[in-house]
Amino acid sequence: MNVAENLETIQTNIRQACERAGRSINEISIIAVTKYVSIDRAKQAIEAGVEHLGENRVEGMNEKYDEIGQDVQWHFIGTLQSRKVKEVIDQVSMIHSLDRKSLAKEIHKRSDRKVPCFVQVNVSGEESKHGLEPEDVIPFIETLRNYENIEVTGLMTMAPYIEDQEKLRSIFRELRTIQEEVEAKEWSHAPCKHLSMGMSNDYEIAIEEGATHVRIGSKLVGKEF
Ligand SMILES: *Cc1c(COP(=O)(O)O)cnc(C)c1O
Repeated sequence: MNVAENLETIQTNIRQACERAGRSINEISIIAVTKYVSIDRAKQAIEAGVEHLGENRVEGMNEKYDEIGQDVQWHFIGTLQSRKVKEVIDQVSMIHSLDRKSLAKEIHKRSDRKVPCFVQVNVSGEESKHGLEPEDVIPFIETLRNYENIEVTGLMTMAPYIEDQEKLRSIFRELRTIQEEVEAKEWSHAPCKHLSMGMSNDYEIAIEEGATHVRIGSKLVGKEF
């Protein structure tokens, strides 16, 4: 496992996906998802040039943050229990898993600054996936306007782990359609210009379909200590 080599390969693939889609690579943030791996591996990623780390558990983020601190931007990408918000709120740059009002309320209450949040959407309709149903997204975001410490920076989805490229593409495309609808509302609390979508299995398609934040774990930092 050579993280620097992996990063180079991923950057090349991203550059090519951007060219196919007529986009600039500067629009894309690569989030290295370090939930499966050690602090040392996370440090290797930073040495290789990674500027964003993603964790899906509060304990995992706390542990790595203690060692690494503000050298990178931290992204919380997993299910977040309201009672644990206070344990990560001062560490996170962005939260990718806003999916209910009680969580929004807690983020607003615990933060002393505006926190960019992605609203998570269950586009694929899989039972196991968290997130709002597509038709609930706009009404939900509308209810967040009084939480001044929340800025809806964009939408996030997790695609199922499948090979069917066209199915994956249609999921990403649907998220983008909803994102554009929210953006068109021009709500000041919800600029909603970003799309957090694409993981190891599907980041190139996600970028072709408009992803601005890709969350890559196994293909970048590996899957085990
Ligand atoms: C684990 C995880 C990822 C990264 O998964 P890989 O397939 O290893 O790239 C991305 N996003 C979320 C929300 C995750 O939980």
